[in-house]
Amino acid sequence: MFTVTSQDSKQSRKPRVVIIGGGFGGLTLAKKLKNAPVDVLLLDKHNYHTFQPLLYQVAIGSIEADSIGFPIRRIFTRHDNFTFNLAEVQKIDAITNTITTDIGSVNYDYLVIATGSNTNFFGNKEIEHFAMPMKNIPEALNIRSLIIQNLETALVTGDSREKFALMTFVVVGGGPTGVELSGALAEMRHLILMKDYHGLSKYDMRVYLVEGKDKLLAAMSPEASAKAKEFLTKADVTIYNSAHVESYDGFYLKIDNGKTIKTRNVLWAAGVKGEVPEGIPAEAIAKGNRIYVDEINRVKGYENIFAIGDASLMITPETPNGHPGVAPAAIQQGELLAENLLHLIKGEATKPFKYHDKGTLATIGRNKAVADLGKIHLQGFFAWLLWGAVHIMSLAGFANKGIIFLSWAINYFTKNSDNRLVVRYFNTKTREIDAEAK
Ligand SMILES: Cc1cc2nc3c(=O)[nH]c(=O)nc-3n(C[C@H](O)[C@H](O)[C@H](O)COP(=O)(O)OP(=O)(O)OC[C@H]3O[C@@H](n4cnc5c(N)ncnc54)[C@H](O)[C@@H]3O)c2cc1C
Repeated sequence: MFTVTSQDSKQSRKPRVVIIGGGFGGLTLAKKLKNAPVDVLLLDKHNYHTFQPLLYQVAIGSIEADSIGFPIRRIFTRHDNFTFNLAEVQKIDAITNTITTDIGSVNYDYLVIATGSNTNFFGNKEIEHFAMPMKNIPEALNIRSLIIQNLETALVTGDSREKFALMTFVVVGGGPTGVELSGALAEMRHLILMKDYHGLSKYDMRVYLVEGKDKLLAAMSPEASAKAKEFLTKADVTIYNSAHVESYDGFYLKIDNGKTIKTRNVLWAAGVKGEVPEGIPAEAIAKGNRIYVDEINRVKGYENIFAIGDASLMITPETPNGHPGVAPAAIQQGELLAENLLHLIKGEATKPFKYHDKGTLATIGRNKAVADLGKIHLQGFFAWLLWGAVHIMSLAGFANKGIIFLSWAINYFTKNSDNRLVVRYFNTKTREIDAEAK
């Protein structure tokens, strides 16, 4: 067992709640357990919480990467019953109530899996190698480097076919992330390309959005879907609906609508799958690699193991497909599980989870967003203001809120941004960060 923490050395008799993952669900749960009669150990493979909704703005160079991350230790400085360790969980052993991590093993009385989700390439290894995922800050920075490096190369290459491919951007997946990313790329083409690269023409930069369903933002209202399509079409994004990527070899992207696009930039926002540590049996894992849980988020077949957020799947008569993979669902599950864990410890009755959907928002660019708030559907400037306010309010940390607000204000008035740096060279052959290069 690892004894790297002060809480471990106290030989506490309080039940130990181990939470894997300091994302939206795990952090909320740990915060709610402040001063509760339990010891909380939070483990995460990163030492910071990531605000994923703004990853695309990091990828496009609109905001700086640090402003959407927040150090986990900083959040819990005043929590006496809390310990954090930077550790990647490798395996769960439910028989001995032990988890194995890359820094050692640890026992738990209650285990909460809040590991979120990862990019789903649907088993296609070639696409996985060549397409760019965007699930965390390093991946968003990879995209930022790729975009800038490819535009730099386009400026100097004498090969017109290569130039075409370097300046062609294909976003796969027409959910909120794909819509936001393609809208931001289109805006970059209109506002920034020719300011930064005098030798490149905005007419040479192409942005495509490929979506398998017959509409964009399929989880939103028909009004929001239609408006998003209209906004993107006006911004010169070529949209292929009811279209699936068949293959991508790093140059040719083949789509099942018969089109082949020459591109060096494929940004993959087409799906996620639950991130489940080894040790959870196959019968507890559903389609999409999410863990079946009951109405108090307890993993099927276990008394003391729970899963919340994107990693979990709660099927109820009202939610036959589970809850949406969004931050509010993870947060609400974390909140209720804190209460329910304390009820369980005291032998009291627990409360079933009910999701409160406060609405969905997506932005398509300057002054353009769509919002579904129950029966109210907003589009355009007011939806965009609301989108901005909701995201600023939801960010962790006062300084981050200020930095993002200021960056947005400066970007809005200057129609530019200052974050287009290649600080980590992305090696387009190995598809990894190249510390040696440049
Ligand atoms: C690009 C993008 C945009 C999005 N936009 C929105 C949006 O606008 N609105 C919205 O509501 N939702 C949005 N989402 C979805 C939302 O971010 C997720 O639903 C939410 O983060 C799920 O919370 P979670 O706590 O389940 O997992 P996460 O927040 O993903 O946290 C999981 C944590 O677990 C850690 N972890 C994973 N595996 C291990 C391991 N083995 N060992 C240790 N630690 C581990 C990770 O490092 C991470 O910190 C977006 C997601 C993405 C990727």
